[in-house]
Amino acid sequence: MRIAQVSAHTSPLAPLGGRETGGMNVYVLELSRELARLGYEVDIFTRRDGDLPRVERVAPNLRLVRLDAGPPEPVEKEEIVACLPDFARDMRRFTHSEGRGYDVIHSHYWQSAWAARAIARHLRVPHVVMFHTLGEVKNRARISEHEPARRIRHERAIARRATAIITASSHERQLLARYYGAREAQMHTIPCGVDINLFRPHDQRSCRRQLGVDPSGPVLLWVGRLEKLKGVDILIQALAELDRRDFTLLVVGGDERAADLKAELQAQAAEAGLAANVRFVGAVPHDELPVYYSAADVCVVPSYYESFGLVAVEAMACGTPVVASRVGGLVSTVIDGVTGYLIPWRCPGPFAEKLEVLLHNPELRANFSAAARRSVERFRWESVALRVGAVYDQALADYRAREVEGGFGAEVYEAAVLAGGLR
Ligand code: UDP
Repeated sequence: MRIAQVSAHTSPLAPLGGRETGGMNVYVLELSRELARLGYEVDIFTRRDGDLPRVERVAPNLRLVRLDAGPPEPVEKEEIVACLPDFARDMRRFTHSEGRGYDVIHSHYWQSAWAARAIARHLRVPHVVMFHTLGEVKNRARISEHEPARRIRHERAIARRATAIITASSHERQLLARYYGAREAQMHTIPCGVDINLFRPHDQRSCRRQLGVDPSGPVLLWVGRLEKLKGVDILIQALAELDRRDFTLLVVGGDERAADLKAELQAQAAEAGLAANVRFVGAVPHDELPVYYSAADVCVVPSYYESFGLVAVEAMACGTPVVASRVGGLVSTVIDGVTGYLIPWRCPGPFAEKLEVLLHNPELRANFSAAARRSVERFRWESVALRVGAVYDQALADYRAREVEGGFGAEVYEAAVLAGGLR
């Protein structure tokens, strides 16, 4: 089976930890690698944003195709919308030049879904979509910039018309049904995966030595794309409430585009008297992260919203307990009182309370650590890929059935009119 994965605004091969390079990039690459290993032929389509080859072979059965759409340089995510008609056109050109199409188009994030939808209609094949984040949900989390009405309108149109929707958590599935009118029969919930061979426990002392962290005091860790939605401010406030001052907080992630937020957080830490405790490490290559997770006593995920939250699962795979907000996908990955704690309020007090409990109890930490590692067995990429493959099979069957019934003839979708662009 030939599969096109569409990730228009961000390349799965880009360095992680930047403003637009996080969980979705990991997901698209790892899922594609695993599908390719299972024998699917996979092409990932992304927008060219530098002087890079049009086609790059990533692994047997797996290629990355860079499409010409907009200037060949980084473009703000909000501006990508204007490039989407060219993106879809170039994808169509590439497909024709190869003389063979795809059996399923699988898109990631609403912008890619818009372009993918047009291609899927052109090739007359099913469109499987995964949103990763939803505008309506981000707005309801009441933080960060306000997501525009246009995004939500397109998400709604895409959700109703996609052959199938994959959600990473049952929470996201409920939201799609409630706010977007997605049908139950369309949706499939498949949690994301973790590479449990890469993310495994290492000796804590030697990891701390490697990172130059004081081995005697507790070490806390935050990892992610540095943006407001991630709630690092809540964590710093929580640390200010702790009785002790012998800890180190490592903040991993964030590139030059996060400079303003980083400066804000540094000022907040300094004001709370924690300047010496909080270390901003910057973005770290994905395969070096196990050292950070293993060096830490606790990984904190204080996000206002998280559709899945790979960081929490990676931390648990390394045997590190997690203290996380009780939001989105974290509810189905962190087991409250077993592998960490889930905090129902986005305020510092309850975070401080649970951090105190864990930092004061090495035995409790050890129990949580063992349970955490055991709990991630269910998130192997191979089983994710097998389940996604089953969704492709089902999508093909549904698509053919609908085509026989003439369901597509009557359908008019503004996005299919490529020349018109997005309104
Ligand atoms: N990540 C990384 N290096 C960094 C910061 C983050 O490799 O410096 C990776 C991290 O390991 C995780 C992903 O980026 O796999 C973040 O995914 P998550 O689902 O936690 O958040 P999202 O980016 O989807 O909001």
